[in-house]
Amino acid sequence: MNNTKIEWCDSSWNPVTGCFNDCTYCYARKMAVRFGGNQKCANIFEENEPVKSQTGKILPYPHSFSPTFHRYKLDELHKWAKPRTIFVCSMADLFGDWIPDEWICEVFAACKYAPQHSYLFLTKNPKRYEKLYLRNRLPLDGNMWYGTSVTNTEQLEQAIMAFGAMPMKANTFFSIEPLLEDITAYRDVKTDSTFSAFSDWIIIGAETGNRKEKVIPPKVWIDNICSFAKVPIFMKDSLIPIVGEKNMRREFPWNC
Ligand code: SF4
Repeated sequence: MNNTKIEWCDSSWNPVTGCFNDCTYCYARKMAVRFGGNQKCANIFEENEPVKSQTGKILPYPHSFSPTFHRYKLDELHKWAKPRTIFVCSMADLFGDWIPDEWICEVFAACKYAPQHSYLFLTKNPKRYEKLYLRNRLPLDGNMWYGTSVTNTEQLEQAIMAFGAMPMKANTFFSIEPLLEDITAYRDVKTDSTFSAFSDWIIIGAETGNRKEKVIPPKVWIDNICSFAKVPIFMKDSLIPIVGEKNMRREFPWNC
């Protein structure tokens, strides 16, 4: 488990790394390629023990950005007695279609074994939550939070469909980052309650880095989300230059 600079959690924990999605703004891929080389491979990998270099150093990305289950990390959580809010698999999409149910269930089991923590999951494939739920494999404990990434209206529509099919008891959230367009345009065909009806929490962030086509969202896009959402909102520091420090909202659903 690592301390993290991610503002909405205390730590990140990565029993699975790597992803077959191809998001142009992906920070995780850059890290994996930097420390694991630029090998491209269509396989997924399982490691029961850490893979080490010739000098005995643990290699965090032995298969670069190919999906890899670091099974030896599963017993890390219960060693942390102090409760933490943990982002699970910040370096992967744990719910990508290529990830076997068994990997996900082993990760869930490790979380259940350390109930002192809160767990935040995030995917670009929220339909997988529903599939797991229908197979009775999605834990609905109060400390499990299921999020989906939304950057545009198309993804918001998919997220609403997937979360609409989830049981009401599940804790859900939208991570609207990076905000690439005015997603409230979707409101034209939905009601004002679009956000709050399907999500218990909203995180908003702007694109970071120096990508040539980088999108800097205008303040009105953020204002629109805030005015339509009736749930806690957490604004990432990337929004400070856009909305101003005094207008920043840093709300957590478990504090409300
Ligand atoms: S889904 Fe996440 S981990 Fe996968 S490529 Fe996109 S940003 Fe990277």
